Amino acid sequence: MSRLIFLGVPGAGKGTQALILSESQCIPHISTGDILRAAVKKQTALGLQAKGFMDAGNLVPDSLVIDMIRERLQEPDALKGWILDGFPRTLEQAEFLEKLLQEINQACDRTVNLDVEDEIVIKRLVERGKESGRSDDTEATIRHRLQVYRDLTEPLISFYQSRKLLVTVNGDQSMDAVTADLKTAIGPV
Ligand code: AMP
Repeated sequence: MSRLIFLGVPGAGKGTQALILSESQCIPHISTGDILRAAVKKQTALGLQAKGFMDAGNLVPDSLVIDMIRERLQEPDALKGWILDGFPRTLEQAEFLEKLLQEINQACDRTVNLDVEDEIVIKRLVERGKESGRSDDTEATIRHRLQVYRDLTEPLISFYQSRKLLVTVNGDQSMDAVTADLKTAIGPV
């Protein structure tokens, strides 16, 4: 059983690696970005509230994602483990998650920091934008998302370091090499 949090700049490969690990470990891959994009597509109340923030490359308000995660982590499939991809992204979210996990008698095993330089992720994301048509994968929005990451999400690295949960993996390698390093870094949890 594993409970893992993936940190890293947009385009670091969190989604790809989280999917690979979630399949090999038979635990759900929970991506707040995917849940939000599905809500935008369906035009739910959540989606309508989130769309403008997402298109601009800003974070959606903490209260929206916090409610989403509170519900998602209590679904039956998440009782045996999970990989969180894209959550938490602010200190407030991290503090909420810590409290929620205590309440539901769970604990995070590891937080993985997938490390890739900005110029490399910018190239990757511009390519992804051309292929997927994601409205937030344009160069100007990507640069803004990286700045948002520095300002709001990067402080979580020391938050998890101080809780002795952080491992760092070099994300600037082939997909298979990253997966192998991840498995070593996570160890038998
Ligand atoms: P992602 O697919 O993880 O890159 O997320 C895409 C967008 O969804 C982000 O740029 C934010 O606008 C929004 N989003 C995803 N996760 C969160 C979160 N934990 N907190 C706030 N906004 C989020």
